[in-house]
Amino acid sequence: MGYNEKISRRAAEILSARRLSAEEAADNRRKAIFAEIPEAQRYEKELSDLGIGAVRALIKGGDVNSELMKMKETSLSLQKEYEELLREHGYSLSDMEPEFCCEQCGDTGYYEKDNKTMMCECFKKALAEAACEELNKSTPLKLSTFESFDLKYYSMDIDDRFPRSPYDQMSNILKQCKKYADTFSLDSSNLFMCGKTGLGKTHLSLAIANEVIKKGYGVIYAPAPKIVATLEKEHFSNDRSSTDESMFIDCDLLIVDDLGTEFSTQFSKSAIYNLFNERLLSGKPIIINTNCELTELEELYSERFVSRIIGEATRLNFFGTDVRILKK
Ligand SMILES: [Zn+2]
Repeated sequence: MGYNEKISRRAAEILSARRLSAEEAADNRRKAIFAEIPEAQRYEKELSDLGIGAVRALIKGGDVNSELMKMKETSLSLQKEYEELLREHGYSLSDMEPEFCCEQCGDTGYYEKDNKTMMCECFKKALAEAACEELNKSTPLKLSTFESFDLKYYSMDIDDRFPRSPYDQMSNILKQCKKYADTFSLDSSNLFMCGKTGLGKTHLSLAIANEVIKKGYGVIYAPAPKIVATLEKEHFSNDRSSTDESMFIDCDLLIVDDLGTEFSTQFSKSAIYNLFNERLLSGKPIIINTNCELTELEELYSERFVSRIIGEATRLNFFGTDVRILKK
């Protein structure tokens, strides 16, 4: 998948920050160890002098084999003593080296294999992370958490139209959403949240997004009108470096808010249809929120399409009184 320059740069920054922090931590450990065991510094110096000596001997040329062998022996025995010294104080040689997040590439993003430079998996992950970050930039993700979801706004009285009180229904939904976030994987089912506006659908889907992002998955949250606008812009522009469409398809979890509020055109219908179709085919989870009745959605997208989406989803019915009005 191609990424634009801004996203590539951001991903490189993520890796370089990891590398620097690992090196800084190693530096601090070395300083602390040298302060505690001054002799350690002497070993480091002698070992590095030996290395320089070996290079010098090689440059000088001539019959240096026996000289090099002797240096190697000295170096090995010094290293052994050094290791012993560190062990006596509860350390090891690896404490002197940076501990990178990725062993494969040492947080550089690249590694060598069969004389070829390969892009590391961790760099691909950082690219996806940067792309999601960019797409979620305008979303108030941090504000909506499970902790800030308050059940007190839901009535305990049973309305004749529903089998239980809004309070009981929402406690149940809250539990299901928490469980969904806790156990999220690429095999998770789809969620279909429906009900009138102001009942907490957006809040709970953002709370799921927060938790799933913390687990290291790439999550994109976007209202349906924004998705359509983004795809439209991409479709009609000549800028082929743009990759929002593939991010909507490829991200680990896509959250589509307010389905049915997008301005309906031939383009919007086919864009949404294709997007959902791709994700259903690849089995990648979607959370869909809508204020529409099913019949309204069927009118927009056809009965077959709607039953296919809902058929594969866990359905959560929100009911009660608009929380935003109650909060005022
Ligand atoms: Zn790596």
